Amino acid sequence: MLKSLLAPALTGVFAVGSALAQSAAPIPEDIRDTAEALMERALAGDEVGLKFVEDLTTEVGPRLAGSEAEARARDWAMRELKELNFQVVRTEDFTIPYWSRVVERAEVVSPASQSLIITALGGSTATPEGGVEAELVRFESMAALEAASAEEVSGKIVFLDEPMTRTMDGSGYGFAVRKRRNCAAATTERGGLACLIRSVGTQSHRMPHTGMMARGQAVGAGPAAALSAPDADQLARLMERGPVTVNVNIQVETAEDAPSGNIIAEVPGTDLADEIVLIGCHLDSWDLGTGAIDDGAGCGIVVGAAKLIAELPSAPRRTIRVVLYGSEEVGLLGGRAYADTHIDDLDKHVFAAESDFGAGKIWRFETRFGEGAQGYAEALKEVLAPLGILPGGNEAFGGPDIGVLRMAGVPVVTPRQNGEDYFDLHHTPDDTFDKIDPDEFRQNVAAYAAMTYIVAETGWDLRKAAEPEGEGVGSE
Ligand SMILES: [Zn+2]
Repeated sequence: MLKSLLAPALTGVFAVGSALAQSAAPIPEDIRDTAEALMERALAGDEVGLKFVEDLTTEVGPRLAGSEAEARARDWAMRELKELNFQVVRTEDFTIPYWSRVVERAEVVSPASQSLIITALGGSTATPEGGVEAELVRFESMAALEAASAEEVSGKIVFLDEPMTRTMDGSGYGFAVRKRRNCAAATTERGGLACLIRSVGTQSHRMPHTGMMARGQAVGAGPAAALSAPDADQLARLMERGPVTVNVNIQVETAEDAPSGNIIAEVPGTDLADEIVLIGCHLDSWDLGTGAIDDGAGCGIVVGAAKLIAELPSAPRRTIRVVLYGSEEVGLLGGRAYADTHIDDLDKHVFAAESDFGAGKIWRFETRFGEGAQGYAEALKEVLAPLGILPGGNEAFGGPDIGVLRMAGVPVVTPRQNGEDYFDLHHTPDDTFDKIDPDEFRQNVAAYAAMTYIVAETGWDLRKAAEPEGEGVGSE
């Protein structure tokens, strides 16, 4: 099934090759056969992973970091993972500064009253009760606001009308996020009263896009909210016709030490059990939708993949550790807590991957392995190729929560998903379960199952440094 499904598209793929040009390390035949069987099983009908997302988003729903709902999600996940027969299921608790929206309203008051669809940005401070009311000043980019004088902004409400570019790899987001992060501080510095940004994201519905700004209280910045794209267009048209006054009312709730935590479940290894193959996702979500693509899908993918491996007749040699990180959305706090807790055994982490880019098909496989381990990277790319996955380079980002592991030298991969539509849904009320395509989701489970199994069972040293000419892993 695997071959008939995907093989024709692959002609010529390997001619691309990597710049380092090490040939693929050999994979023992029984390991390759098992990896292929895992992929076929996932494609033919992974039920566990998809059901995990469905149940999480239905039974728990939105899971704002530090909230009672995130705590319920942890309890739910612990129960679920135990029922799935994972071992060493546990929580590693930590606390975070909590923020949540209470009131978020905006309206045009002059030239004539009309309401606007907004959502407060995470970390925003509150306006005085009843809101702030002032004339708008519009900027077309974050750079234009940063170049503006206090005179232009003082006493006004900033309208930052910068659009985001749609890309397959999501690179438009990194650029767009700068306005979300910095608008409030730049506004306050110039004496402005509040900032309204055009929503980050690529959809054109009347849905605003939330996400973290630099915490207002900490950086002395004022209130900030995102306008839906049609509302931003409306304001721009109104301003072409004359001065516009708006009222923005944001009320928030904050707390110092709210509970959060990382959920961990394992498939214990055998003779190399102390070596950790980590696959992760984040359990928290923003509160507008139900966190299905961000990041319920990622959790379903890694849980589904680990479960397929756990069902094999014998466990792989290394321990597979599934980590459902908490409080990712509010500053990658779970990723940091994990690294702090495991600081003394990070060298035992031999591999890490994180699924946090929705449920779209993986189209390219990138690694960040040692120079001497490129043959292993090539071998993994060959195994994944029948899934329609192209070989990528050796500069993988890994994922948000495993960033600290990457910086500590843990080998990581990025199974890069098609993100063309991701920012139509991400952080909006439309991030719901129905948006997941089961076939694309299962392709992800297949890839995660195969690569995780191979890394756990071969015992390959993915940190391996470069060797003298002619002694690469490909020639072993
Ligand atoms: Zn995410």
